[in-house]
Amino acid sequence: IQVQPYRPQEFIDFTKEENVRAYQDALAKVRKELLGKHYPLIIDGQEVDTAEKLTSLNPTNTDEVVGTTAKATIQDAENALQGAWKAFESWKKWDMDARARILLKAAAILKRRRLEANALMSIEVGKNYAEADVEIAEAIDFLEYYARSAMKYAHFGAAETHWYEGEENGLMYIPLGVGVSISPWNFPGAIFLGMAAAPIVAGNCVIVKPAEDAGLIAGFMVDIMREAGLPDGVLQFLPGKGAEVGDYLVKHAQTRFITFTGSRAVGLNINAEAAKTQPGQKWIKRVIMELGGKDALIVDESADLDVAVTAAVQGAFGFNGQKCSAMSRLIVVDSIYDELAAKFVERAQTLKMGTGEENANVTAVVNQMSHDKIKGYLEIAPQEGKVLLGGEAPSEHDGKPGYYVQPTIVGDVKRDARLAQEEIFGPVVSMIRARDWQDALDIANATEYGLTGGVISNNREHLEQARREFEVGNLYFNRKITGAIVGVQPFGGYNMSGTDSKAGGPDYLANFMQLKTVTERW
Ligand code: GLU
Repeated sequence: IQVQPYRPQEFIDFTKEENVRAYQDALAKVRKELLGKHYPLIIDGQEVDTAEKLTSLNPTNTDEVVGTTAKATIQDAENALQGAWKAFESWKKWDMDARARILLKAAAILKRRRLEANALMSIEVGKNYAEADVEIAEAIDFLEYYARSAMKYAHFGAAETHWYEGEENGLMYIPLGVGVSISPWNFPGAIFLGMAAAPIVAGNCVIVKPAEDAGLIAGFMVDIMREAGLPDGVLQFLPGKGAEVGDYLVKHAQTRFITFTGSRAVGLNINAEAAKTQPGQKWIKRVIMELGGKDALIVDESADLDVAVTAAVQGAFGFNGQKCSAMSRLIVVDSIYDELAAKFVERAQTLKMGTGEENANVTAVVNQMSHDKIKGYLEIAPQEGKVLLGGEAPSEHDGKPGYYVQPTIVGDVKRDARLAQEEIFGPVVSMIRARDWQDALDIANATEYGLTGGVISNNREHLEQARREFEVGNLYFNRKITGAIVGVQPFGGYNMSGTDSKAGGPDYLANFMQLKTVTERW
């Protein structure tokens, strides 16, 4: 295929009035056409409905039902798995270019429907305009990037072997088979689509289980993949309960791989279950995991404090801190700690709370469980440090019932406090005072996680030491630690943050393939 070199999508500029108006028009269109929609399961290309439903609420106004999806039963999961294996028989024989074309076409459709997707995301999970737009840009990027990656594997020389007299030797990349993709609600467009498109373009068939809180945006993406011409059975859409159908498929002898993005607790459980060999199982299941983070930004005495404050505010409070990349620890050397704390609080105070549709800076967190969990941390905050800003989790705002949480900054938190160690997944930052640079780096590394991290500094030695010793999968200097761009900053962590599979990276597709060496003696 002839395609232009990969280039990430540009983001929409919402300082322009006409773009804001276009967004508002899209919101009105989505409210009219998509609100209240019901998405059934898709198994073998057929719509399958269920007696029970899953309901998706607007987190910024819980009186409002955004829509519903079917709720798969164990029998549906079994049917999806068997159907996917049947589809695999032909899908695995398609050439990579042909499979890549389907992703490219899906990207083209999504580009045309970009504002609609953005608007749906604002309503379903409360993203403001920029956060929603960055995500849909990323969804398009995943499709385009993985399509091009697949095309590289299609051509001879994707993996080289050396010459050996009298023989021809070569390597073939082959798909794994049928896998399950269990995706999160915080990036229900981009990560959902990326975790489906990558294994699919590599020749696998996938059962996708979207997050229960964001079934509509997932259904929207599945519609696009079908419209792009994906054959029946290659993508089986299976909204349901993780503890029911997710668990069933993870344990199933015929599941070949599991790709999961979500919490550490659920991920480790999946990993353990997947490791148990079931009767009749023919393989060692492959598990690809993107888990949590307790991500730190270090600010040293040479830093530009304005750069530090901007990085901290964006990293901590973008999408209410509900990113696994979010900055939840701000580690500052003692000599500038008080000055930085004052500036950080001052800037964070200007953030406006409201809905995604109003384009507020902070909105509501995703669901009751999340709200309750964050409230638990806010309760212990006064014991573990000094609450400098926020500290409340109101259950309504502007007369609308929702899962609101104030941007919260807790000062002088000890490095081993719960607030400094546990993933909160909300707009709650722990500031930690470090004696000096080395102490700051030690504090940053004193966690089980290793996802993102950052340093704000103008000291070259510090930056170079951090480059070597800061234990994270994505390290950023003099900017925010969120917002990795596909193909530009391949994303993923190690330690308890995951298997470092690097979504949007050059080797990502290899997670879903295996190599076969073929030797022919002449
Ligand atoms: N890739 C996103 C970022 O760089 C985070 C993904 C996640 O939260 O799972 O901010």
